[in-house]
Amino acid sequence: MTNSNSISKRTLIKAVGAGAFASVLPTWRRAEAATKDYDVIIIGGGNAGMPAAIFAAERGAKVLVIEKSPVLGGTLDRSGGQMSASGTQWQKAKGIQDTPDMHFADNMRINNWTADPVITRLFVDNAGDSLNWLGSIGFKPLDEHPVLGGGHEYFTTPRYHWGKESAKSIFYVMEPLFKKAVESGKVTLMLNTGAVDLIQDKSGAVLGVVAENESGKLSDFMGKNVILASGGCAANARMWEDLHGNQLTALLANPFSQGMGLTLGQAVGGYIRGGEKVLPSFSSILADDSYPSSTDASYTVRPDFRQPWEIYVNARGERFMREDHPSVDHREHALARQPGERCWVIATQEILEKAPAAVAKWDKAKFMGNFNSHPMMHKADSLDALAIKAGINARGLEASVAGYNAALKEGATDPFGRTHRPMAIGRGPYFSIRLTGTYLISFAGLAIDGQLRVIRPDGSPVPNLYAAGEIIGAGATSGNAYTNGSMVTPALTFGRLLGQRMLKFNA
Ligand SMILES: Cc1cc2nc3c(=O)[nH]c(=O)nc-3n(C[C@H](O)[C@H](O)[C@H](O)COP(=O)(O)OP(=O)(O)OC[C@H]3O[C@@H](n4cnc5c(N)ncnc54)[C@H](O)[C@@H]3O)c2cc1C
Repeated sequence: MTNSNSISKRTLIKAVGAGAFASVLPTWRRAEAATKDYDVIIIGGGNAGMPAAIFAAERGAKVLVIEKSPVLGGTLDRSGGQMSASGTQWQKAKGIQDTPDMHFADNMRINNWTADPVITRLFVDNAGDSLNWLGSIGFKPLDEHPVLGGGHEYFTTPRYHWGKESAKSIFYVMEPLFKKAVESGKVTLMLNTGAVDLIQDKSGAVLGVVAENESGKLSDFMGKNVILASGGCAANARMWEDLHGNQLTALLANPFSQGMGLTLGQAVGGYIRGGEKVLPSFSSILADDSYPSSTDASYTVRPDFRQPWEIYVNARGERFMREDHPSVDHREHALARQPGERCWVIATQEILEKAPAAVAKWDKAKFMGNFNSHPMMHKADSLDALAIKAGINARGLEASVAGYNAALKEGATDPFGRTHRPMAIGRGPYFSIRLTGTYLISFAGLAIDGQLRVIRPDGSPVPNLYAAGEIIGAGATSGNAYTNGSMVTPALTFGRLLGQRMLKFNA
């Protein structure tokens, strides 16, 4: 579906070559004679894009979804799908009293008021309706849900829900509705097609999208509203580094999370914020040091699952935190302050024999066999030799072990306040396991206002351009923390709100 103007443009592209097109005819000039073919063009058919399309179509809109990958669903293919909301049918069924105000207060407590209060308010005020809608189309959370928490800091009220197939449980109930909307002709879906440019008029209003199919063919699609729902940039190491100021250590995001939408939004006047809120997850044993690497296994650093028997040191060989601190957020922030956002777990043979297993994925033989063969795991007879092998400062390590042991022997308080101290770091051989902070999501994102409009640095909206999902950055709804369910739920909710009522069109 292209406008009449694009037919001549296609000829022009052929004549001058696609690369030269932009210099021959600027996008605003191309848009001048265009008709508005679509009410809504959605860039990205994932967590936010799917509900936006479903609800806009339900309202009678003519919708185009441009999806770069060969499939729908985006990050729902791998996400935990953990969602937070108040006023859900599952809370009511269990007699749990909860309100958006309580959800808001809990979220802002967890992220220490670093999330955007306006955007968070919009999220929590509408999250319950989103989950109840999912329930109405067949979503079922686990029987024991809602709960207070999962891998992150706990809520004070049970409002955390996820399905037995993680985020796929969300995708599986949305997909039939989406397909139905496509079959009805209300939604046009273009897979294997990436948005590469936005078309603006002279005033800066967005009028459409230039998309490229898998053969490299460019086409223009004109629309009254454009939603950027193309996810974050956590699969694009270069952009990640530019926007967050640190390295993308591991590739865990959907490979199509390349941040193209962030570039498009900026090109039409929007700007990026929130990169400074970046926070690593703490537990990964990376496969190697060629960033972005993959993660080979996860070390249990949560004391509610396994109390630590080891000590943790940084590259200087210094302990830097209370290893048994009950707060996930405290531990993540402690790691974030260490050089390279990494630390080494230090243990002895006796500890490894007596302590409960810390790597669920590996049996004991595999775990022990990895020392001196896995790049992140070392073994040596002396602390000095271990430090050299692992790349830790030897003097620092020696002092840390001596300090830990001395306090324990004297019955003195641990310098970091640790209480679980089952044994000293005694005789060798000694073992080290390097844990590196990793990232699943972009914290930086396009600035939006409370109506989900992409805004310029002066606060004015870029006309007709909206954004929903990870493209607005985790900093907006999760802040400088992993606030439970504060990515999937707002993505779903903001997509729904745009389609259901925020976008303007005369259907
Ligand atoms: C492993 C993992 C676990 C997670 N667990 C949780 C959790 O439990 N709870 C939580 O709240 N959050 C979680 N998150 C984060 C959350 O899942 C995502 O932030 C959210 O799903 C992103 O939704 P989205 O719609 O913004 O992006 P996506 O779902 O990624 O959709 C974006 C879509 O846009 C497409 N696209 C990209 N570029 C273009 C382009 N130029 N043109 C057209 N299409 C394009 C992509 O192919 C993709 O389909 C997790 C993330 C990961 C990686």
